[in-house]
Amino acid sequence: PWPTVYVITPTYRRASQLADMTRVSQTLMHIRNLHWIVVEDAEMRSQVVSELLERSGLPFTHLCATTPPQHKNQKSMGKGVFNRREGLRWLRENAMDGVLYFADDDNSYDIRLFEQIRTTKKASVFPVGMILKLGVSSPIVRNSKVVAFHDSFQAGRKFAVDMAGFAVNLRVIHANPNATIPLRLSYLEDGFLRQLRLELDDLEPLASGCTQVLVWHTKTQKASSPNMKHVTHTDFDTNL
Ligand code: UDP
Ligand code: MN
Repeated sequence: PWPTVYVITPTYRRASQLADMTRVSQTLMHIRNLHWIVVEDAEMRSQVVSELLERSGLPFTHLCATTPPQHKNQKSMGKGVFNRREGLRWLRENAMDGVLYFADDDNSYDIRLFEQIRTTKKASVFPVGMILKLGVSSPIVRNSKVVAFHDSFQAGRKFAVDMAGFAVNLRVIHANPNATIPLRLSYLEDGFLRQLRLELDDLEPLASGCTQVLVWHTKTQKASSPNMKHVTHTDFDTNL
């Protein structure tokens, strides 16, 4: 009766990683029947992330994946593609039913969101705050149906949504075994939802008919001082 919410979080090493990941983990700690899939953008899984996952007490899977050399330093490539793909691979092999949600490590989540996405039948959509120029990216809802998207970046997208603005039932993931996150910057969400053969009509608007913001696309300021790299670890480490 309580479908599991599978949360895939891509993450990478930087000064704010532990701060950001602590915030996300302590949000997710409030949620029942949640399985956290953390995929590091790295050759090896790090101790700082391992220890954080253990501390959380959450059911989790800790993975890593790197960008293949031929795709490295490509300006047109999206962030966190190969680690999200690795999370999807694990999900397909290990989870039968439940709901998938991609939660970046630096966003801010209202815990009410997770109870709402849990009952997603095919795919659900909802507003994301603090997005680019418009301040919010949101599905436009008429008579309980999604008819378009309020988003400053339309650019031919059928689904003009942010990575944090949708959830998908695993039935849809299993019914489309080859659907993946495409490489092209700014088209990750649209490409993925198209490959899942979804139509606008399939989308279930959440957050009171998309009138509330339950997730924000916050960004952590980049570290300015070289000393900031120390905060990457729980225990100060001067041998970075
Ligand atoms: N990310 C990653 N590898 C990278 C850059 C980003 O795994 O080289 C992850 C990051 O931790 C976050 C997500 O991908 O969970 C989106 O990255 P970011 O927040 O930097 O992108 P923005 O929010 O600015 O679009
Ligand atoms: Mn971000």
